[in-house]
Amino acid sequence: MTLTEKALARAAGKGQVEAGQNIWVQTDVLMTHDVCGPGTIGVFRREFGPHAKVWDRNKIVIMPDHYIFTSDSKSNRNVDILREFVKEQGLTYFYDVIDDPNGHWRFDASKGALQRQHGARYAGVCHTALPQKGHTRPGEVLFGTDSHTCMAGAFNQFATGIGNTDAGFIMGTGKLLVKVPQTMHFRLEGKLQPGVMAKDVILHCIGEIGFDGATYRAMQFDGPGASSLSIDDRMTIANMAIEAGGKNAIFEFDAKTEAQVDYRCQLNGTKSTYEPVLRDSEEKFVYELVLDLSKLEPTVACHPDPGQRKLAKELGNIKLDRAYIGSCTGGKTSDFLEFARVLRGRRVSVDTFGVPATPEIVHDLQTARWDGLTIWEILLQAGVQMTENAGCAACLGGPVDTFGRMNAPLKCISATNRNFPGRMGHKQSQVFLASPATVAASALTGKITDPREYLPD
Ligand code: SF4
Repeated sequence: MTLTEKALARAAGKGQVEAGQNIWVQTDVLMTHDVCGPGTIGVFRREFGPHAKVWDRNKIVIMPDHYIFTSDSKSNRNVDILREFVKEQGLTYFYDVIDDPNGHWRFDASKGALQRQHGARYAGVCHTALPQKGHTRPGEVLFGTDSHTCMAGAFNQFATGIGNTDAGFIMGTGKLLVKVPQTMHFRLEGKLQPGVMAKDVILHCIGEIGFDGATYRAMQFDGPGASSLSIDDRMTIANMAIEAGGKNAIFEFDAKTEAQVDYRCQLNGTKSTYEPVLRDSEEKFVYELVLDLSKLEPTVACHPDPGQRKLAKELGNIKLDRAYIGSCTGGKTSDFLEFARVLRGRRVSVDTFGVPATPEIVHDLQTARWDGLTIWEILLQAGVQMTENAGCAACLGGPVDTFGRMNAPLKCISATNRNFPGRMGHKQSQVFLASPATVAASALTGKITDPREYLPD
């Protein structure tokens, strides 16, 4: 069996499963957020009754993160609905925007978009925050009401996005009927060269198979190249499996996975026992790609979909209006470090927005120093508009007052993960997906630029 089949077989209590089989799997963690949480709660109440209790109050994780820092009253109200449900059900893991369990969330626009407005428990973008808060464990099954839930496959688990109806059913029963996906095999060899990042790896793979090339399939990444990648890199890659239509992505378990998971589970006092899924010689794949990481070059997915692959060096004729770094896939500390490495001592020439994925990342950037300056200060000096309000922000457009949203038909290079028309706001805007390094170099020149020209010695 492949890694995905093994994780699903275990969750179904079966010794063996095969692709195409429909099985009932037990859920280890169900995650939801402010956009889909209220709908999921509505389905749960409708189907199980107004006084029903959830199947396990310790296995539901609620992380508001999407439409948070906006004056839109309906969006603010969604966070209040989550809080009321958490209180009613006695849920353990709710990363509220505010600290008062009886309060109401209201964004204060008069304070501006840059200054922190959230409370101490707020965790930021769910997919980046889930591992930080100790909710991702090898060998487990994670369902989330968000398509990029597949990011947790970086931790050797089966993780996938589901709709509100399925999530409402899990809330009541802890189970879901799943068709076992076929597995595509991506064997990674070699090492990434300077200026080339994990985002380039996944943009290359999606370009290879197309934006629907992995539809309802698992994407398994392994080999020595995968071992050489950091956990952050693996998260970037797993996150974008859905941009090829993938059901999930999964990486092998190794010492890096173990160190990160153990540290985070202990730090947060979450469940720290787990059993990874390991490879064997009986794997059946429907597709094989061997990729030498050392041959990859900075890559861009052009408007209007993540499969429109080109090399950054071929796109110097595309003039930009804006650059953006942020999101679950591109707003991690390591992403901002590579971004800052290119921008340090230089000045952007187009509007450039920076949105860390989580408050912990804001803290990292405001405390780590290079030659006396924090990373945050280096980015401000370079002209980047940095917000302390970590969250999804303009990655998916959002209400019209969302920080960084494209409210006009602009061209933007972005470290986010999706670029279908209208994704970051205006329907006639164009989004070019790239690594943080490529976004930084392009922000300097105002056109799509290969970052290798701007690497420090
Ligand atoms: S940052 Fe973007 S891709 Fe990630 S969860 Fe938020 S909206 Fe979705």
